[in-house]
Amino acid sequence: MSIKINFNVPPYTGKEVDYMKEAIENQKICGDGPFTRKCGKWIEEQTGTARCLLTPSCTQATELAALLLDIKEGDEVILPSYTFVSTADAFVLRGARAVFVDIRPDTMNIDETLIEDAITEKTRAIAPVHYAGVSCEMDEIMEIAKKHHLAVVEDAAQGIMASYKGKALGTFGEFGCFSFHETKNLSMGEGGALLIRDEKYIEDAEIIREKGTDRSKYHRGQVDKYRWQNYGSSYLPSDMNAAYLYAQLELAEEITQARMDRWNQYKELLSPLAEEGKIELPYIPGHCVHNAHMFYIKTKDLDERCRLDAFLKEKGILPASHYVPLHSAPAGLKFGRFHGEDKYTTKESERLLRLPLFYKLTADEAEYVAEQVRAFYR
Ligand SMILES: *Cc1c(COP(=O)(O)O)cnc(C)c1O
Repeated sequence: MSIKINFNVPPYTGKEVDYMKEAIENQKICGDGPFTRKCGKWIEEQTGTARCLLTPSCTQATELAALLLDIKEGDEVILPSYTFVSTADAFVLRGARAVFVDIRPDTMNIDETLIEDAITEKTRAIAPVHYAGVSCEMDEIMEIAKKHHLAVVEDAAQGIMASYKGKALGTFGEFGCFSFHETKNLSMGEGGALLIRDEKYIEDAEIIREKGTDRSKYHRGQVDKYRWQNYGSSYLPSDMNAAYLYAQLELAEEITQARMDRWNQYKELLSPLAEEGKIELPYIPGHCVHNAHMFYIKTKDLDERCRLDAFLKEKGILPASHYVPLHSAPAGLKFGRFHGEDKYTTKESERLLRLPLFYKLTADEAEYVAEQVRAFYR
């Protein structure tokens, strides 16, 4: 039998179908049913945020944040170019301009020392991205935001169960956005969550998420009929999807630990190559607790990465490169600009290759992957 190791396998614990069946038997499969509420509460307790609203995706959680901040045409938002399109999309949809700054080569996160220089009188928000579940330097970023009266929207799509100086990712900025896409550590197929730090936004968030109505209040028995209160959209996932997620939240520690075991195994097996200077491995700052969302290696350059990628594919392993910097993409040229010098964004993105990492990846499989990486360099 030939070996085949996929890049990702969606997390599945076994309990999901029971809960989805329960949602169906509850005769409550629309949004904000019992499982959606349980998930929201679980995330509030785990992260310590004031309020968590489940959404159909992280993209939509970010859109909701942009709506709540009343981001408008002519505004500017500062973010890294090395990120998924959604970080920019949410603001660009409101007419804002994306102002990209360079990343730090060690964590691949926005370089906090370059943010201040990119601020203009049009700047409204900073959107740091916690790449690979490793935190950005939030003390510095929050300090800059405070000084210049800017909002912070954390793209914590990859950040559940990770923290910075003991505080959960997604809870520093005005808003934090999680993803529960099938490629993330915990999943519901497609899904996300908006974390709200400041209680003053909760009521508006509930209204915009419920098509501009106060239906959330109605469900809590606080008003006797719900009415159109504001502009809005529909940002509710089905309770069936929330049921799937709830099974994973209950096992969040176990799922994270299983990933961490494989992450540490890769790290140990590949350290000799790093010591020889052949590759670079992820760096986790001492004050960050990561969640083993991703294990990547960095090759010498793009050419070497392509050859390693092809070599691993021949051996039945499916690695993956990552983001094409947004500023170089057609929409990036149209809706954004790069502030300062692209010293690391393009160069580092070209060297990065992600190895298979998922909940049920076995120790034998990880060992085989590491062995093949070593074989390539022999
Ligand atoms: C996955 C991801 C998103 C998008 O999440 P969806 O739930 O698919 O909308 C946004 N930003 C980053 C950094 C991501 O990794």
